[in-house]
Amino acid sequence: MSLAESPAPSSAQSPASKQTPSESSAPEGAAPPVQLLPANHLTETVLPVRPALIDRGSTARVKPGMLAELVGSGSAQAVVLSGRQALVSDNSLVLLNAAELAGHLANTPYAPEHVIYLGSALAGSDLDAGTELVLFVLPLQFEVRAEEFEDHVAGIPSDAQWAGFRDVAARLNATDTALFIEASAIANWHATHTHCPRCGTPTQPEAGGWVRRCPADNSEHFPRTDPAIIVTVVGPDGRLLLGGGGPLDARNYSTLAGFVEPGESLEQAVQREIGEEVGVRVTASQYLGSQSWPFPASLMLGFTATTPDTEARPDGVEVTRARWFSRSELQDAVLSGEIVISSRLSIARSLIEHWYGGVIQDAADSA
Ligand SMILES: [Zn+2]
Repeated sequence: MSLAESPAPSSAQSPASKQTPSESSAPEGAAPPVQLLPANHLTETVLPVRPALIDRGSTARVKPGMLAELVGSGSAQAVVLSGRQALVSDNSLVLLNAAELAGHLANTPYAPEHVIYLGSALAGSDLDAGTELVLFVLPLQFEVRAEEFEDHVAGIPSDAQWAGFRDVAARLNATDTALFIEASAIANWHATHTHCPRCGTPTQPEAGGWVRRCPADNSEHFPRTDPAIIVTVVGPDGRLLLGGGGPLDARNYSTLAGFVEPGESLEQAVQREIGEEVGVRVTASQYLGSQSWPFPASLMLGFTATTPDTEARPDGVEVTRARWFSRSELQDAVLSGEIVISSRLSIARSLIEHWYGGVIQDAADSA
């Protein structure tokens, strides 16, 4: 699921499944009774799965020389990344002819550190189906309008700017969102995995940039993603527990989250993190959907969990405030500006609205 595609659950998605009337005695929209759900109990309550928009070409990209051939053909389009920012114009990623870009940048201070195959656009994306896409990771951030850069790169729109994902995500279409996320994830991995973890020798990219190989011991190293759980905790009265922390804004409340530790199941991570952060016992949890968050390398795995507890004790470290909300209390607090919840780009918002049973109006919506 892409960020911009974070679904706004319809009110038809009641946590009480139509397929299990015996378990749906809870009032409309309320949490089901505390119980373990049987395995493979697919309810209608999961977050919608959005189809992929890019064919990553995992078979094609392993062919030696494939990437150089593709760039040289003149048919590929380049996404340009520098640090955590991409080249953006008019609320879209700037796509440049990869062959021309490579030619212009060769032997300049802007020669890319990495060129990586991103895949080809699928039918249903915002690009022509089959459009081949390549990522150019430039060595440093610089002003796109700087004279030296324009000298080397033709075809850059005059209003092009470097922009971070959060700055533009709300305005990008679904395909650009998917490309920005994929590009950031793979670029971050290359930036932080330059040497062989076995022997310390610098590794070399291959397979279109999706593998790094050690020339000393021939070991292969693959891109990493760190699993993290993110959870709506629902009390025995159907109220939602949200928390906040950090010095930035005491009005912020969100779902609780944490990284999965080695040797731990996702469900165990949910129990442990919620216990650690707010002192609440989780008795059951259900997976609802996921969101890639490659800043730097996370995969957010969304759960809803039930607890028999009605009091929360923030740990004072990661979570400094915690509060239970009924549906009307949450909507009222958001509308009045008393609290701010996660943006609509986030799986946190999708999870909160999944519990709520519909779209939560922001204060800005009614302004
Ligand atoms: Zn090695």
